[in-house]
Amino acid sequence: MMCSQCGNDHGDELGELAFRRPDALFALAAAERQSKVRESNDWCVIAGERFFLRALLPLAVAQLNDSYCIGIWVELQPTDFERVCELWRDERQAAEPPFTVRLANSIPTLAETLGLEGLLQLSGPTSRPSVTLAASSHPLAVEQAKGISLHRAHEYSQVFA
Ligand SMILES: [Zn+2]
Repeated sequence: MMCSQCGNDHGDELGELAFRRPDALFALAAAERQSKVRESNDWCVIAGERFFLRALLPLAVAQLNDSYCIGIWVELQPTDFERVCELWRDERQAAEPPFTVRLANSIPTLAETLGLEGLLQLSGPTSRPSVTLAASSHPLAVEQAKGISLHRAHEYSQVFA
């Protein structure tokens, strides 16, 4: 699909923008990481006191009739993380009210995103939860509220390219 902003064709193969782990993990020395961290591609616990989940942050792209999703980590309150663990294999987990979370990654090229507040909604045992940022003047919150252009989605797909 031709981009109306730059004339290039970048509709079909938008690469993903995804973070492998929360930023807090990369701040740890290797030995510390081994002794203090329990982790998988879906969740991560540091020293039994900081709790993270991998989520999707959808940005609506009108031109695609779809959303461009950023794969990002969020930090939860300990009791909320416990609740998520209880619901991990529950088919009805989408009925659970959302949890207040904070973004746990800095997205390069944007104003600081680490610590931005949002709501995490579980979606099902085999799909990642989604995060909706609290309304604010932060550019990412504005983009999520208003949607983004195809060109902008392409820019996100190139952040780590
Ligand atoms: Zn473009």
